[in-house]
Amino acid sequence: MTVLSRENLNNMECTGKPTISLLGIPFDEKSSFLKGCAKAPPMIRESLFSFGTNTTAGNGIDISGEIVVDRGDFSIPGLDSIDNIITGFLRRGERVLVMGGDHSITYPIVRSHAAFFKSFDILHIDAHPDLYDELLGDRYSHACPFARIMEEKLTSRLVQAGVRTLNTHQREQAERFGVEILPMKHFSPKAVPAFSNPVYISIDLDGIDPAFAPGVSHHEPGGLTSREVIDIVSDIRVPVIGGDIVEFNPDRDQNGITSALAAKLVKEVLSKMVENGC
Ligand code: MN
Ligand code: MN
Repeated sequence: MTVLSRENLNNMECTGKPTISLLGIPFDEKSSFLKGCAKAPPMIRESLFSFGTNTTAGNGIDISGEIVVDRGDFSIPGLDSIDNIITGFLRRGERVLVMGGDHSITYPIVRSHAAFFKSFDILHIDAHPDLYDELLGDRYSHACPFARIMEEKLTSRLVQAGVRTLNTHQREQAERFGVEILPMKHFSPKAVPAFSNPVYISIDLDGIDPAFAPGVSHHEPGGLTSREVIDIVSDIRVPVIGGDIVEFNPDRDQNGITSALAAKLVKEVLSKMVENGC
């Protein structure tokens, strides 16, 4: 993949009320174990706009209407296509929340943001640190996005919550890049540090316990509760410039539980973007 130039940074400001675009990227070609999360965006949308619930988030903000615009899904032949899509929105002064797809999409999405925002932190929820230098010979696997992000210094700070699969290689990678991995043992949302820069939020649904989110490719018990993730998002006090919600695999879901959770998190992140500015 070509590396985007970080010269001529626009240094977009988090002021005003930009349009927030919700879009799906149905792509699972970089999944190492099971395919299926390319089917996620329509399922999440169905839950989000279901008559079984409403569109108001926990902070009281209704995300339907003019603030948030659903842009539909963008089918892509490969990761290289993502920059054009995301840059198109950012260039118009909009912000994006992306429904994946597998986690490989986060690297090009973040890289596009880095061309517009001078300095931002990343909050990353995941069972896995996704810091592999390569997996099965692929440097752009869904197990690698945060290695690429850190190598290219696209973020000023990476904080990971939910990680419970840290092997030796990824521990070394985390130390090399200065990644802040919050221990899962005795975890509390209060352990998440306060951010001083605007934040980009990346939520891999397998960060949440499979009891709450069975519809993921990698079941990793001992994870976060739905409430803990909602509280983590709710406690953020800085602008949220964008985000992604990835790795929902409808083939593995039971009674739409994970779909409803993904939709809930879409709602919580969008409403946080409205509340804090973006
Ligand atoms: Mn991941
Ligand atoms: Mn994961």
